[in-house]
Amino acid sequence: MMKRPAPAAKPGTSPGHTAPRVGIVSLGCPKALVDSERILTSLRAEGYVIAPGYDDAQVVIVNTCGFLDSAKAESLAAIGEAMAENGRVIVTGCMGGEEAAIRAAHPGVLAVTGPHQYEAVVGAVHAALPPLHDPRFDLVPPQGLHLTPRHYAYLKISEGCHNRCSFCIIPSIRGDLVSRPAAAVLHEAERLVKAGVKELLVISQDTSAYGSDLKYAASPFRGREVRARFYDLARELGGMGAWVRLHYVYPYPHVDEVIPLMAEGKILPYLDIPFQHAAPGVLKAMRRPANQEKVLDRLAAWRNVCPDLAVRSTFIVGFPGETEADFAYLLDWLKAARLERVGCFKYEPVAGAASEALGLPAVPEAVKQERWERFMAAQQEISAAILAGRVGREIDVIVDAIDHDNGEIIARSQWDAPEIDGNVFLPFRPGISPGDIVRARVTEAEEYDLLADITDL
Ligand code: SF4
Repeated sequence: MMKRPAPAAKPGTSPGHTAPRVGIVSLGCPKALVDSERILTSLRAEGYVIAPGYDDAQVVIVNTCGFLDSAKAESLAAIGEAMAENGRVIVTGCMGGEEAAIRAAHPGVLAVTGPHQYEAVVGAVHAALPPLHDPRFDLVPPQGLHLTPRHYAYLKISEGCHNRCSFCIIPSIRGDLVSRPAAAVLHEAERLVKAGVKELLVISQDTSAYGSDLKYAASPFRGREVRARFYDLARELGGMGAWVRLHYVYPYPHVDEVIPLMAEGKILPYLDIPFQHAAPGVLKAMRRPANQEKVLDRLAAWRNVCPDLAVRSTFIVGFPGETEADFAYLLDWLKAARLERVGCFKYEPVAGAASEALGLPAVPEAVKQERWERFMAAQQEISAAILAGRVGREIDVIVDAIDHDNGEIIARSQWDAPEIDGNVFLPFRPGISPGDIVRARVTEAEEYDLLADITDL
């Protein structure tokens, strides 16, 4: 089976058995997932059926990730698996920029296209497996096809990045920031909400930089002009009647403006800010954007305005040149910041990344591992204490799934993004479906998850 089988065609489209069948393996981050969804939407609109497994597919697209060397290795392995299981493979995505490496490992692939080359991928599919021209197959849901469950969807507001973090090769793969006009984003959000999406997850490489490339130009939406500005977009999205969650935000001063929207309940009290480190020397070597020195003050000010704010972040330990003193600084900072949700990665050398040319001494693997364990232990304590403080509170939760075998409902709070954060587990009640938002009282806290009882039925 494919690693991440795509869902079968959505209701309302019942393609015949002669329709051409395409499989897709989607690797990497949510941004890559959105790219896969766009490719599928184009193909579905042309009458292709999305095959759930290698056996059913007449051609397989592998959407690769090329961010880290380990991700490249995973991409090459996925291409190899698709070649072995199916044999007719089109490669796209971040690693598609390295056609020579792909063809050296897998000379039989049909075509290789790079990131965001939707038309090129679709063209390669046409060449390998021509579409049927039958009006019955021209039906496609106006919101497009999504690989996420029906009740939440990623909303990509820009491509590329104008930062130049030394460990990252995304700008060299995806180019500089290109924001979508506000009206295009809002029309897409509106279509998603109309189609039943209850939670919009705003993503990009740097959400807080949204619109700077457009000089914040306004575009017409529902009879008014909306500027391509972080605050304006958040405000408009907040009026759509769905949960709105902001990912990949940097602590620039203008982010302060959206915190009142969170306090008023317009958008979720949640910010995903990839801090990556706290020690000034390491941040400088990483060339991270935004002034980190005042971040603790900024966090305190935000929590003053919106006490329920949850901040999720990721960190890298073992960056070249990171000393024990730098790491101790990071641990102290983490304890002071008391972030709700945190992930941690051990630094991996990335071919082509500026960090490799800095001439800084590599941190030995054993030291990276030991720092990672200390970091995770410190955060586990913080997370457990924060969650324990929520016992007894009444909160809204969104239902993700019903686990009939265990007699429970798997849900999330406003403080938890799907896939990356924790869950809220509730005893099963009939009549509740994925996507429902229900009121619940928290009864118990674990290290990462909450247990709760429904209160409003
Ligand atoms: S902000 Fe930094 S880490 Fe994120 S995509 Fe841009 S350059 Fe890469």
